[in-house]
Amino acid sequence: MAYIVDGKKISAEIKEELKEKVTELNKQGKEGVLAVIQVGDDPASSVYVRNKKRACEYIGIKSLSYELPQETTQEELTALIGQLNEKDEVKGILVQLPLPSHIDEDEIITSIAPSKDVDGFHPENVGALLIGQPGYVSCTPAGIIQLLKRSDISIEGKHCVVVGRSNIVGKPMAVLMLRENATVTITHSRTKNLQEICKQADILIVAIGKREFIDSSYVKEGAVVIDVGIHRDENNKLSGDVDFASVEPICSAITPVPGGVGPMTIAMLLHNCVEAMI
Ligand code: NDP
Repeated sequence: MAYIVDGKKISAEIKEELKEKVTELNKQGKEGVLAVIQVGDDPASSVYVRNKKRACEYIGIKSLSYELPQETTQEELTALIGQLNEKDEVKGILVQLPLPSHIDEDEIITSIAPSKDVDGFHPENVGALLIGQPGYVSCTPAGIIQLLKRSDISIEGKHCVVVGRSNIVGKPMAVLMLRENATVTITHSRTKNLQEICKQADILIVAIGKREFIDSSYVKEGAVVIDVGIHRDENNKLSGDVDFASVEPICSAITPVPGGVGPMTIAMLLHNCVEAMI
């Protein structure tokens, strides 16, 4: 039976550590405000925004909310970000993605001051990650590193296969694993022999966005399997990109959905917000 990596427990530990750190920083007169911007009223985004604000409150960071209408223009959003960039008390700026299709997401991300980019999406932070310099790291991949380390799963020298190459998960994930001295293979929709490559992985990290795509035929016996995917069915039941029932019996450790990677994303966002206060 595989070890079930408990993201809920690990994220709760991290939140407690951060709460203590915020109390300490407050004693030194350091306060933090996170500005959270949502454009439109997509229900899933509203849930994410609410959870992020609640988590901030829990560890003692104030959040400012900007709920903008769907028809907000690129110029209006850029102007707001410009104002927040200038406000000293605002330490972090978070723009909930996806944005409506008439807004250029890349341009918006680039308009956030890199020092306030707690999502770690700004090209300057992405570049810093690539060359091993300090900067904010994308929260989901950073959370996965914490999951592995806090579960005593060694990374150095292991063959890690990352399935997916998105800017927010796959690519930064691969760079982080490289930084931890894994041997990394990145795969994507044009990869030939995906099954064969995945089967070589000691650590298989799946961020594909396709429900239960990876079954036991993709997994080497004894591998560690990290499932980033989140899918909600018509009965509100969550599942991942990995077919848990098929893979769990043959791997050595696996993250469940829900309760695996998901809770870590918010924990690492809080981590970045606390860093921004220092
Ligand atoms: P994207 O859709 O941006 O990227 C998916 C990646 O998977 C792409 O690189 C794509 O390749 C690749 N891919 C798609 N189909 C295949 C295939 N058949 N074989 C191999 N590779 C394939 O997704 P994200 O990275 O944003 O998210 C991935 C999943 O993780 C989603 O389910 C999302 O909901 C979830 N997620 C969860 C988070 C959490 O907190 N737990 C946070 C962020 C995302 P190509 O580049 O060639 O198109």
